[in-house]
Amino acid sequence: MERKILVIEDEQNINDILSFQLSKEGYTTISALDGVSGLEMALTQNPDLILLDVMLPGLDGYEVCKKIREQSNVPIIMLTAREDEVDKVLGLELGADDYMTKPYSNRELTARIKANLRRSAVEPAPAAAPAESDANSVIISGDLTINTERYEVLKNDKVVDITLREFELLKFLAMQPDKIFSREKLLENVWGYEYYGDVRTVDVTVRRLREKIEDDPSMPKYIITKRGVGYYFNK
Ligand code: CA
Repeated sequence: MERKILVIEDEQNINDILSFQLSKEGYTTISALDGVSGLEMALTQNPDLILLDVMLPGLDGYEVCKKIREQSNVPIIMLTAREDEVDKVLGLELGADDYMTKPYSNRELTARIKANLRRSAVEPAPAAAPAESDANSVIISGDLTINTERYEVLKNDKVVDITLREFELLKFLAMQPDKIFSREKLLENVWGYEYYGDVRTVDVTVRRLREKIEDDPSMPKYIITKRGVGYYFNK
């Protein structure tokens, strides 16, 4: 089945080149040249992944990303032109899954797309048969229940609204409690590719996760920072 990628980029040239490269790789592409129509296509055309430029006329990429996230967990790769845009993408906690700074190589672009599609291909198990959930697939720690088969996290028996990437990170740490992982190791294992860029992505995802699962995100009980080393799950 062909995967559909939505390219939201206002520069016609870049949009054309991206779409051409992606179709050569075997993807179906649809494209938008501004934020408003991009947002509409994102919500109505069911893309499997979105490439989203930051600087767009009208509704910019930050806003588009936020609005998509209100309704969808589709993987979003932000396309940034400058370092300060990267800072903003990371700092605003838009819920983007990844970002790339222009100019990027074809090879890197393809690798990122594949990695993000692979992550999203693992859908939650259908809700039909909860009784069949294997006990091994459930991790319980304090008031947290992590169901690795159903891609579900409960805190005090309430479902936590969590993105796939946040879930993958939590699952990875929780399956090996007390083991400390460097941010580079986490990028490799959770993000799924050799990462040239920036370990801040991990910090941001940890911060978002803490806001969702910790009673007091500034005094975390589950995801603990080992200063100068990395993070671990405290079971
Ligand atoms: Ca632009």
